[in-house]
Amino acid sequence: MVEILPIQADETKKGTARRDASEEGNKQGKAIPRGVVVLDGDGEPCRSCTSFRDWAAMTRKKIASPQSNEPPSTAATTTATSLPPDCPPDAEALGRSTWTLLHTIAATYPTAAPPEKQAEMKTFMNIFSRIYPCWVCAEDFQRWMERPENKLVPGQEGGHLGGRFSFGQWMCGAHNEVNRKLGKSEFDCRRYEERWRTGWAGGRCD
Ligand SMILES: Cc1cc2nc3c(=O)[nH]c(=O)nc-3n(C[C@H](O)[C@H](O)[C@H](O)COP(=O)(O)OP(=O)(O)OC[C@H]3O[C@@H](n4cnc5c(N)ncnc54)[C@H](O)[C@@H]3O)c2cc1C
Repeated sequence: MVEILPIQADETKKGTARRDASEEGNKQGKAIPRGVVVLDGDGEPCRSCTSFRDWAAMTRKKIASPQSNEPPSTAATTTATSLPPDCPPDAEALGRSTWTLLHTIAATYPTAAPPEKQAEMKTFMNIFSRIYPCWVCAEDFQRWMERPENKLVPGQEGGHLGGRFSFGQWMCGAHNEVNRKLGKSEFDCRRYEERWRTGWAGGRCD
């Protein structure tokens, strides 16, 4: 059973700004409960804010089984439980791809970043946190970035932007914040380099 996230739905009908609505509905940074569909600024279901399971349940979509090459109209249909790879991403597929990009950026950041690189990265992360298509995710991420201990300050002695190690640990902390919110286990940030730059000790990525 799927429901529409009520505050967004009501506020959208009223034409109230999306940001105001979301601040009320999402102030605590809670994970979006399963079975809840988030709306976008046009009052349409926000696909990139919703897991495919909930999306499929909401749209009652029947799609061709992923093994089949036949078009959906003729193939045996099955209730979709996972997203075919050539479809627009849901919140999970978008998240996985985005973390891959963000962690790879962090893992290839200079070991000691010059001031202009630091300023560039702060600008990138600020813009990223405003344009990430899952807007409920983005707003929580912005709030996390605004906490004094997480602020990106170019040129700051011992700051998060100083070099690859510190920036990687910051990114790892950002991801762990989302992991905690979603009830997932935290990643061991001591293994960040192995996961995102060198490959695991033992050589199975070589
Ligand atoms: C900025 C941002 C905010 C998000 N906010 C939300 C949200 O509010 N609600 C929501 O439902 N989804 C959110 N997502 C998506 C969510 O984080 C996951 O990407 C998605 O649920 C898929 O999870 P997953 O278990 O496949 O692995 P992911 O969490 O996508 O992780 C991919 C891989 O990264 C590695 N990894 C895991 N944790 C860390 C870490 N701390 N540091 C380094 N590497 C790590 C692991 O090897 C893992 O397999 C957000 C994504 C982003 C980029």
